[in-house]
Amino acid sequence: MTTPAAERRRREILATANARAPLPDGEFLTAEERAELDAVDALDLDELIENPIPLAPIAQLYRHDIPDYAGPDGTDLLQVLWCPVDHSDRHYSPRVFLYWRESSAIGPLLAMPPEPPVISDIYLPVPCVVHPEQVREYQYADLLPDDLRERLDAWDPDDEAEDEDDSPDYHSDLSLAPGWKVGGYANWSLTDPHPMNCAVCGSGMILTSTAASADWNGMNCSWRPQEEDSSASPDTVGVQIGRGYSLYTFRCPESFDHPPATAMQ
Ligand SMILES: [Zn+2]
Ligand SMILES: [Zn+2]
Repeated sequence: MTTPAAERRRREILATANARAPLPDGEFLTAEERAELDAVDALDLDELIENPIPLAPIAQLYRHDIPDYAGPDGTDLLQVLWCPVDHSDRHYSPRVFLYWRESSAIGPLLAMPPEPPVISDIYLPVPCVVHPEQVREYQYADLLPDDLRERLDAWDPDDEAEDEDDSPDYHSDLSLAPGWKVGGYANWSLTDPHPMNCAVCGSGMILTSTAASADWNGMNCSWRPQEEDSSASPDTVGVQIGRGYSLYTFRCPESFDHPPATAMQ
């Protein structure tokens, strides 16, 4: 547990250390920097999560920017927030909240939005602007209709050999974009698919947004944006979900008032 301010400072210290030439004594950090990081580690904040805390903003998406925007009539803005600590009833991941708004009806903005007094360091995103790029995705193979899945198996019979040959892999290269995204499909490679049904009405839910640990997988990833420097880090947002997983947020197709659900994969 840490605080947003302490985590920002920790990232700043590490970025400064990474960017400079090695110190004369060969150390990575100065004594002062080390003392500051030790003080952050020593913070005892566990009690704070017993009380309600403000949510952390995760994504703010306007209808005019997002081709697949879906929201109640009269709304043009989807705000994704999460409670930035692990939740035992969410497989130890953040609890996600979706709010649809009409941007013209929003009153004066606060100069300083309220911040949670305590967070998990891996759930504090680095502020980013988004440059949406629309791509076509295809459903996870096990969830395709039988005839399509059989044709896919015939086309790519030996899934095990995917690392050894040069032929593209249906999931990782062709159908499911890794990284932060709106819409599309979940990659169920961790557990195999399990039904995502609305807790209120039982309807099968639709993937709305994905928070990811990285935006692409390595230099040769077919989804790496061409405009990115080839040495650029795929971890622009600074969020980690489990062991490099993604957090998929689903919504009910019947009502925007029904609560979202998440799956970590
Ligand atoms: Zn919570
Ligand atoms: Zn529902």
